[in-house]
Amino acid sequence: MVTRTALVTGASRGIGRGIAIELARAGYRVAINYAGNAAAAAEALALVRSAGGDGFVVQGDVAVAADRARLVEVTLANFGRIDLLVNNAGVAPNVRADLLEAGEESFDRLFAINLKGPYFLSQLVAKQMLGQERDTEGFRGRMVNITSISVYAASINRGDYCMVKAGLAMMTKLFADRLASESINVYEIRPGVIATDMTGGVKEKYDKLIITDERGITPIRRWGRPDDVGRAVRAIAEDRFPFSTGAVFDVDGGFHLHRL
Ligand code: NAP
Repeated sequence: MVTRTALVTGASRGIGRGIAIELARAGYRVAINYAGNAAAAAEALALVRSAGGDGFVVQGDVAVAADRARLVEVTLANFGRIDLLVNNAGVAPNVRADLLEAGEESFDRLFAINLKGPYFLSQLVAKQMLGQERDTEGFRGRMVNITSISVYAASINRGDYCMVKAGLAMMTKLFADRLASESINVYEIRPGVIATDMTGGVKEKYDKLIITDERGITPIRRWGRPDDVGRAVRAIAEDRFPFSTGAVFDVDGGFHLHRL
């Protein structure tokens, strides 16, 4: 069991909360970032504590530069170093609009939160990690980006989401290449359909696609859970993949398989 520290964006609910809890089980202390839902963040912290870890909550919008700087400062003030950054915070479009009708406002919002935010937060945290001593495994830090099957699966009623997630996948490769020689590994986790607030509004559609339909879009016939993603992040956080960087982990019930 290690005592390390993590900054997890969007850890108040859903997948980010699941990640924070699994990190706590691995002995991590976790900075639980949230955007607006303080009550959910407090609940996540209580769950982290009861899972054997510790941490604190910190409000901040990853799309805003001053907030990103504050997230890093507050995390360092509490923990002294950042062993793991998880870029998880993300939003779906408010309305699913056809590709020929989708507006700039939605594009700008998704770009700012889902891609610009993680990019510049990674930049800030990378610079911090460069100044950190190597840990017992020889690393100055690690990073994980939570993308989506939308990196490669085209959804013409939320093209903006697909495009920014594809950008986040490339961002993983870029940071992995730049930081490998600095003893910082960078990974992409690509979740499939996971039961969270984000997918609550399309529950019936996915119940049918995953469970009711004769074949189902996923070979594993169930919804994903936040802890499915959390356990994958935990494996990375516990350095089970020290010779891998830029690697993609599909946590998707087998959705990515091409089937006949
Ligand atoms: P969710 O249940 O809607 O939770 C979103 C989380 O992100 C909340 O903690 C929210 O904080 C936070 N957040 C939203 N905007 C933020 C901002 N501007 N700055 C900081 N934090 C912000 O979503 P989820 O389903 O867990 O999704 C988490 C990540 O997984 C996203 O990147 C999403 O694209 C990705 N993903 C989800 C699925 C899925 O099926 N659910 C599949 C693939 C990938 P508040 O609680 O304060 O609002």
